[in-house]
Amino acid sequence: MSGNLMDTVLQMVNTDAEPEDYKGEDGLLYCGKCHKPKEAYFPQGKALFGRDRHPSECDCRRAEREKREKKDADEKHNAEVERLKREGFSNPAMRNWTFENDNGKCTQIEKAHSYVELWEQMKAENHGLVLWGNVGSGKSYFTGCIANALMEREIPVCITNFATILDNLFYGAENRNEYIVRLCSYPLLILDDFGMERGTEYGLEQVYNVIDSRYISKKPLIATTNLTPEQLKNPEDVPHARIYGRLLEMCVPVRFTGGDFRKVAAQQKMKRLKELMEGGESQ
Ligand SMILES: [Zn+2]
Repeated sequence: MSGNLMDTVLQMVNTDAEPEDYKGEDGLLYCGKCHKPKEAYFPQGKALFGRDRHPSECDCRRAEREKREKKDADEKHNAEVERLKREGFSNPAMRNWTFENDNGKCTQIEKAHSYVELWEQMKAENHGLVLWGNVGSGKSYFTGCIANALMEREIPVCITNFATILDNLFYGAENRNEYIVRLCSYPLLILDDFGMERGTEYGLEQVYNVIDSRYISKKPLIATTNLTPEQLKNPEDVPHARIYGRLLEMCVPVRFTGGDFRKVAAQQKMKRLKELMEGGESQ
């Protein structure tokens, strides 16, 4: 056996003693801190390289190892979540659209909580949602909360919109089919601002292609839209009818009736500005 290998083996069968350690009545080395053995005899009086014992973890050593393993696992988890967020969000601001940051004004947020809690079932039974309602009622925030929460559980989510998808299909470096296959590979796909896409027959064909591929993949889709279910059911022409028809087959409508957050924020800002400009008493 080579010297190096022998050293390695001896490291495995020898136990380093700390100054406070002591020899117990059974002849084994005991930890001076937790008073648990740091060694154990080989079973049935067997020996290895002339040694009758091998190292064993005392409570302190085990705690140290577990702490180290947890740190490694946490680091690995954080790196994976970071990767998913970098890849899954087309708009980095969405990273902050979380349940923790919710201002409590989004009336439907309980449904987002349920969707995350029941995710395995949502996935298995392929339940999609189409969130509809006025601008600024918190639909996109709702989807951001779901995406962040699932990514924290290491579940890949892609949150994008058709403007970005069409841009990638027409000008992206990736092969079109591969790109669509990739979009369909995400356990959850979220399309923001659905129905805003105006366009050429060719563009609408691509939109249908993506929606239909997702439909075939049997994986859930969540879309947000400013269109009403009536508008989705009565589209202006055949290309839109095909797209909306598929969407409604995959997604259950959820109505958002909340106030316009953006308008409220703008009004508050305006009020504050007025106060400042009028000066003195209202400050
Ligand atoms: Zn110990």
